[in-house]
Amino acid sequence: MNIIEIIEKKKFKNELTEQEILFFVKEYIKGEKVKDYQASSLLMAMRLNGLSPNESYYLTKAFVETSEKYNFIKTDTNDILIDKHSSGGVGDKVSLILIPILNALGISVPKISGKGLGHTGGTIDKLASIGVKTDYNMDEANAIFKKTRAIILSQNDNLVPADKKLYALRDVTGTVDCQGLMASSILSKKFVINSDYIFIDLKVGNGALLTTLAEAEQLASIMIEVAKKMQRHITVNITSMEKPLGQAIGNFIEVQETLDFLNGTSQAMDLKEIIYAFCEEILVKTNKAKTLSEATEMIDEVLHSKKATQCFYTWIEAQGGHYEAHLHQPKHTATILVSKDGYLEYLSTHEIGMISLLLGAGRETKEANIDMSAGVYLDIQDNCKVTANQVVATLLSEKPISQDLITRFKQNFKVNLQAKPKTPIVLKTYSC
Ligand code: URA
Repeated sequence: MNIIEIIEKKKFKNELTEQEILFFVKEYIKGEKVKDYQASSLLMAMRLNGLSPNESYYLTKAFVETSEKYNFIKTDTNDILIDKHSSGGVGDKVSLILIPILNALGISVPKISGKGLGHTGGTIDKLASIGVKTDYNMDEANAIFKKTRAIILSQNDNLVPADKKLYALRDVTGTVDCQGLMASSILSKKFVINSDYIFIDLKVGNGALLTTLAEAEQLASIMIEVAKKMQRHITVNITSMEKPLGQAIGNFIEVQETLDFLNGTSQAMDLKEIIYAFCEEILVKTNKAKTLSEATEMIDEVLHSKKATQCFYTWIEAQGGHYEAHLHQPKHTATILVSKDGYLEYLSTHEIGMISLLLGAGRETKEANIDMSAGVYLDIQDNCKVTANQVVATLLSEKPISQDLITRFKQNFKVNLQAKPKTPIVLKTYSC
């Protein structure tokens, strides 16, 4: 078997076998018989011709087989381990909020998260803003998990190394937006952990990696096919990323908004909608609640009693983080005013994500350091009422904020005479 034949086969739209995909993955990790330029060529053939459900399954299986497995110890037979993962968006701090709420309700959450990609933010970077460490070996991870029943890990050289290497290559070869590759990349990172249920938040829209519902539906169906073959329970919720989620976009400011939500001081109704939707679904699927309304009451209780806030502090401190020790204050801020009365409409969520990245909250190159204080705060969220001269947003950065970025932000919203009809955040659900 050799890589040239495999590339030729895929170029002519022929389905690859399990052995061919395993050969590619194993040899690419080693880097001897499969070089970066050959992997790039195969990835592009896969991107252009698509992967069959079988090929996605074989790729996922190969990623899992070549990875270390993290087996988290349960407290007893009733202990339920769940994993929740987002495909990436703007202002998406759902995992940070969900974990302590679920923890407070007796559900354990061990998971691998990612760093920011392009205009989308990453949970690992947000946690790093308050000093949280995420690179632990199995024994260290289990010791933390035993105390907290929550842990977020980052990928390392042993944990799905094939995806780590291939994702970096996809990022620079125009091959990220391939549903078959996305399914294997996301699911393999879930399948190396012994969770009982996996909940995927598949974002679609202008601020997401996939922009049309048809593309997201195709990815959701592939994920379900692969999960069935791997005998794992997953739920895929396709959710809207047409608008930024919540008010904060960045790293430290998203942690602040997380605490606002947990403490009951957040005004972001979109955040509330998605958090409750995921938590209710998880509680019902894991038989912790009989009905969605019972689940709602349970969530209300742990928020009002501040049990969830307490779980947040216990969890981040167990992973070496400390909120009060990292109160990042940006050196520079720029406020954006609105010139007339009406209802605000943000035009491109992708553009808001890019502005946040350029302020320093994301990476322009893989090696770049993140400015933890940087980001965009939406004083007024999309479709909300505004009056002339009101501040709609604040740009935050360690470096002076350029007029160009201010102009880009100003060109990215308009004011309508009337509010638009409200649209749901959760668009479709698939389960197996
Ligand atoms: N997130 C991942 O981990 N992989 C992808 O391919 C896309 C989003």
